[in-house]
This record gives sequence, C-alpha cells and structure tokens, in this order.
Amino acid sequence: MAFRNFKMVSYVVYGRGSFNQLDEILAPQRKGDAPMVFLVDHFFEGKPLIARIPLRGKDKVIFADTTYEPKTTQVDALAKSLKEEFGSISGVIGIGGGSTLDLAKAVALMITNPGSSADYQGWDLVQEAGVYKAGIPTLSGTGAEVSRTTVLTGPTRKLGMNSDFTPFDQIVLDPELTKDAPANQRFYTGMDCYIHCIESLEGTFLNEFSKSYGEKALQLCQKVFVEKTEWDEECDDQLMMASYAGGMSIAYSQVGVAHAVSYGLSYLLGTKHGIGNCIVMNHLEDYYPAGVREFKYMVEKNKIEIPQGICKGLTEDQFETMINVSMGMKPLWENALGKDWEKIMTREKLRALYNKL
Ligand code: NAD
Ligand code: ZN
Repeated sequence: MAFRNFKMVSYVVYGRGSFNQLDEILAPQRKGDAPMVFLVDHFFEGKPLIARIPLRGKDKVIFADTTYEPKTTQVDALAKSLKEEFGSISGVIGIGGGSTLDLAKAVALMITNPGSSADYQGWDLVQEAGVYKAGIPTLSGTGAEVSRTTVLTGPTRKLGMNSDFTPFDQIVLDPELTKDAPANQRFYTGMDCYIHCIESLEGTFLNEFSKSYGEKALQLCQKVFVEKTEWDEECDDQLMMASYAGGMSIAYSQVGVAHAVSYGLSYLLGTKHGIGNCIVMNHLEDYYPAGVREFKYMVEKNKIEIPQGICKGLTEDQFETMINVSMGMKPLWENALGKDWEKIMTREKLRALYNKL
C-alpha cells in the first residue's frame, strides 16, 4: 500500500481582520513591477471590501462571475488575457467562495503551463508550478482553501486539476468576510462541510488522521447549525474552521455517496455543488441514517428549502448520463461501500435514487 504524501498550503493566517495584513503578506511575493491580480467574486463589486484590497502599481482587480461553476474555457481565457496584458504576473489572489478559489488556483497554474486547462483535468498531470497564489474565502464549507484540486467543467467532463502544484501558497482565513452571506447559501455551502465529515467518518478509508479533523469539523458544524439559536460572529468563526478541518479530513480519506450522486446532477443539470449535495443527502437514510436524521433536523431548524423533484420529466438517456457520471466516481463509492461496492450500488438502485430527487 502506498501512503499519500500530500502537499499542503504553505502559509495560513487566521483571525477577524486578518485581511488587513494582506499588503504585508504580499509584499515579499512581488516580482519587480509584475502585478498581483485579484480575482474577486462578483458579489463584492461596489462593496466596501474592494477599497480594502491593497493595490500597488499595475495590480488589477477582476470580478469573477460565479453564476455557474468554473469552466476550463473561462480559466483559459483569463490566463491568456493576463499574459497578453502584462507578460509576467507576480501572483493571483482569489477572494470569494469555492468557485472563485478554484478559478484562482486554475488561472495561476495556467499562466505557466502550456495548452488548455482541460489537458490537466485528472491526477498529477500539471507539470509546472504556477505563479504565486493566495486564497481568501468569503463562504465557509467547501474546503477548497486547503485542497489539492480545482474542480472545472471541461468539454468532456467535470474534473479537477489534482496536483501538488494546486494548493495555495497562502490562505487568509478572516471570518469577518463571510458575515453577509445569505442564510440559504451559507447553509448549502456549510452543509458541504457537514457532508464531507459524514462521508469521511462513515467511510471505509477512515484513519486516525482523517478522523481527528473530521470529528472536530463535525462538532463545529453541529455547534453552528444545531445548537445556536441565532447566527452570530462566533458562528462565522466556527464554520470557517469547520471548513478547513473538513477539507483536511477528506484530504486523507475520500467523500462518499452524496458527492458521487451529486456529481451526476451537476454534470447534467448544472446543479451547484452545495445545493446538489443537500438535494441528495435528503434521501440517503439507507446509507447515513444518523447523519441524514441530523441533516433533516438542521434543514428544519434553519428554515431552509431543499428543492424536490428536480429529476421529474428527465428522459431515459438523461438518467443514463447521470448514472454513468456517478458510477465513474469509483474511489467515492469504494470509500462509501467498500471494495465490493458494485454489488451493492447497482445501476437499478442508482436509477431509483435519482428518481426520488
Ligand atoms: P460559490 O463560490 O459558487 O458561491 C455561491 C454564491 O455565493 C455566489 O453567487 C457568490 O457570488 C456568493 N457569495 C460568495 N461569497 C459571498 C458572501 N460573503 N456574501 C454573499 N454572497 C457571497 O459557492 P461555494 O459553495 O463556496 O463553492 C462551490 C464551488 O466550490 C463549486 O464550484 C465546487 O465545485 C467547488 N468546490 C471545490 C472544492 C475543492 O476542493 N477545490 C471542494 C468542494 C467544492
Ligand atoms: Zn463537497
């Protein structure tokens, strides 16, 4: 058995107001007059945060449209236009939710790697270190701030650029930045973390490393979504650390059934990651009985709507597509159900599950 020797984020700063240290953090990373490029979620356009970005010289702010999850075409176009405009670039700083963080990681890699980002969707295909990259989350839950992947929708598949060059060089965890997130979005993204924990802790790949982080992240999610009666600063602090720890937990294990099924939805219908996971989790009592019971309690307590009936009216071909995408996520199924997963999760069973969503 080969043990995974994984690359982590190099520098982490945590705390309310730590965003104010960004200028100081970036200064030693500046290469002559090559600019820093700030990729910022379009939600922040015209908001006070923009005035706090420490712009120097030719630095540039680009607003990223996150209506859809990042695409390889979007990454390629951004990297190309930056290279054409500036020649050399000191670094790419992503400020936003998981979509913007992934976009920033991918653009930083594509400034130095030839071809299209679609060529690197897979495992360990990236050849060159990208330019310096920093991630500043404004939503908590995906774990994209710590992961070695950047999930992209390409011409033929939705798959990450998984590599040792992918993790950020620096992350700035400032919980103040998440305070304006709408309750629904905060819940969907927060549940991504909760589901990471359940899938990791209930999975066959579990080990003490993953368990230590997974249990802590789960406890923090419960504090925020089960115990608290009203959202406050402490919730933002706790959920940000839950996201980090949840990401660390799956770094050394794997996700499971909710993610495997939700990938089918997102591929066919464009359902976003957080909400897609929630739609699936709502029907997984056979696989994660205690987790699903608690999930439903949190949905009710936080007064969240989980969409129902999104697979109504789909054609047989469309169901087939989702089943194929989902069945392709082999490590996820193996983690969830063990080596003999194919005997347990048959196409018929998966068809019946999609039918319920
Ligand atoms: P997101 O980044 O897609 O953003 C969702 C919405 O929230 C957007 O409309 C955005 O404008 C808005 N938003 C962001 N911050 C806000 C704030 N502070 N206040 C108000 N609105 C805000 O959401 P997400 O759930 O964080 O990320 C999902 C993405 O992350 C997917 O693309 C998924 O593939 C990816 N992901 C990546 C990894 C990884 O390891 N790389 C893991 C899980 C998910
Ligand atoms: Zn996830």
